[in-house]
Amino acid sequence: MDIIPLSEGTFTVDKTKLFVPFNQLEDELQKRPAGSLLVEIQPFAVITSRDVLLLDTGLGFKRNNELQIHQNLRGKGIEPSSVTKVLLTHLHKDHAGGIAEGEEGQASRLSFDQAQYYVQERELNVAFEKGFPSYITEELELLQHSTQVTLLNEDAGVIDGYINYQVTHAHSAYHQVFHIRSEKEIIFFGGDDAPQLQQMKHRFIAKYDYNGKKAMELRKTWWEQGQREKWRFLFYHDVKNPVYTNETAD
Ligand SMILES: [Zn+2]
Repeated sequence: MDIIPLSEGTFTVDKTKLFVPFNQLEDELQKRPAGSLLVEIQPFAVITSRDVLLLDTGLGFKRNNELQIHQNLRGKGIEPSSVTKVLLTHLHKDHAGGIAEGEEGQASRLSFDQAQYYVQERELNVAFEKGFPSYITEELELLQHSTQVTLLNEDAGVIDGYINYQVTHAHSAYHQVFHIRSEKEIIFFGGDDAPQLQQMKHRFIAKYDYNGKKAMELRKTWWEQGQREKWRFLFYHDVKNPVYTNETAD
């Protein structure tokens, strides 16, 4: 399977949960706003024998009136209309911002018109309860009644015979992770349960998680199992280590 990282770059984010592009060259020497974090954003395309998969959808920012995720796909020779499945780990806006588009900031249609979207129904319900600033509910409304959307309501299952999903109740209440299987290999996409290589190697409880302890334990389990089975890990918040196979016993 071919894996194509689609980095949207590095952003600063603070309590307001607004993501502001961080230009490393220009901004390095200037002080970032106090209390802000640097966050890298990176969806993935995975090309299998059957599908062009998109794993989470980025921030949904536009450049020259075109969605950045569309630009990034085209830059890799992939037409957005060739995406057949969009797999969403959860609906925080840095993962689901690119699900929809429209004119003048009004989302009016799903941005992958030939794709089936796979979403946890209970995650969608939580998103509507909580709303802004973590979720962009006007866009998420488009997921509610579209025939292009499959609302998953089981804790685990299989999509199309080769993509396993599993609800973890870790980073968000109904966050799900995906294993994509071919005869030769297993790709693991842990979304925000497993966002960066460093967090796989070092035990760490994140304050921003719904259940940080559980996420930490899961990472350990995945890291060990992934080593035995030579999984290819995809890290959404790690632009330097997008794809990683844990073959060393560290
Ligand atoms: Zn998140």
